[in-house]
Formats: sequence, structure tokens, C-alpha cells
Amino acid sequence: MVVSRLVNKLFTSCTWVLDGKWLIDCGDVEPLLPLLDGGQVQGVSLTHGHFDHIYGLNDLCSRFPDARVYCSAWAREQLLDAKLNLSYYHDTPFVFAYPERIVVVDDSSRVELGDENVATAVATPGHTPGCITWMTDDALFTGDAYIPGVRVVTNLPHGNKQMAALSVKRIQDLAVNRSICAGHDVDASVLMTTISLTTNHPNRPPSN
Ligand SMILES: [Zn+2]
Repeated sequence: MVVSRLVNKLFTSCTWVLDGKWLIDCGDVEPLLPLLDGGQVQGVSLTHGHFDHIYGLNDLCSRFPDARVYCSAWAREQLLDAKLNLSYYHDTPFVFAYPERIVVVDDSSRVELGDENVATAVATPGHTPGCITWMTDDALFTGDAYIPGVRVVTNLPHGNKQMAALSVKRIQDLAVNRSICAGHDVDASVLMTTISLTTNHPNRPPSN
């Protein structure tokens, strides 16, 4: 799987692009376009519904009519409520304008990414009650549930420190042979990077 990362202007949140057609979270859209292979986005998997991880979704969905948005039930509420997603308290209140595109997922839900790649939703609450870590054969897209070297933020509304600690443990247990792809890069010097992840999954032949 080829994974590209875009560091967004707002709070250096990260949008991850999987094989040029699937997104994890969505901030700035314009700089994302060169990273798309074939110029289409098929879906977006959200790690959670804070506005710095979702603010590009209206722009994105207006450009890509087939794109679906996969998220937890809690993140769905955040998408549709500017106070819950915290954008209300910043410059531009954001409400998602395409609720019919939302697909609600739960712990263990599997989402087909194409080319036999699958992302499994792992419930990792604490930063928000509805945080999802998206797990592929090669990677964990953790959002704000786990950023290596950074304490999980639990002092925002509905945060829970105890749950966050359990989620970090769960993520670390799953991290063997998987790259951690986190929701922010506070030290980002390069805004766009592309990495090729090696597939270590024992049941899958190596790609050629
Ligand atoms: Zn957050």
C-alpha cells in the first residue's frame, strides 16, 4: 500500500491518502489533489469528528460525488453539529452538508479500500468517545487517540483520561509490524510525503 501524508494548515492535522484514492481524515483539499491517483476519491475514513480533521469534507464531497464518509456514530453527531466538532469556537463554523454520504461504523467494522486492501475500525475512545483507529495490514491510522511522543489530549469536552490510556494500550498491542500514522505532526518540516508500506500480513502474498 502506498501511503501519502498531507500536513494541513490548521493545527498541523494530517490527511493520509491510501493508494491515491482513499483518505483518512480531510483538511485542505486543494493541495491534496496531486496526491490522487486517477483524480478520484472513493471514500474517507474519519478517526474522529473534531473540526481540524473534517473541515475539508464539504469541499471534497462537492468535487467527488461518489465519496462516502465512514465514521463512528459519535463522529456523525460531530459532523452535523458545529459545537460538538468545536468549529463553532473558531473562525468558521463547520457543519457537514452531505449527511446522506455518511456510513456509521462500529468496533470491528471492515471497509473495503479496493485492491484487496481492507481497513478495520478499532474503537479507541478517550480523546473523544467516538475515536476510531483504522487498521490495515501495514498501518494504524490513529488520529488523536495516539500520537507517539505526545500525551493524548483528554481535556476537551467529552474527553476521558482512563479510556484514553486503555486505547493507547490497545493501539500499542496492535502496532507490532504496523506503522503508526498519527493525526498530527507538530514538527512537520515537509508538508507532503509518500511512503511505501511493506505488507507483513502472513496470509497475504507479497505484492509485486
Ligand atoms: Zn481531535
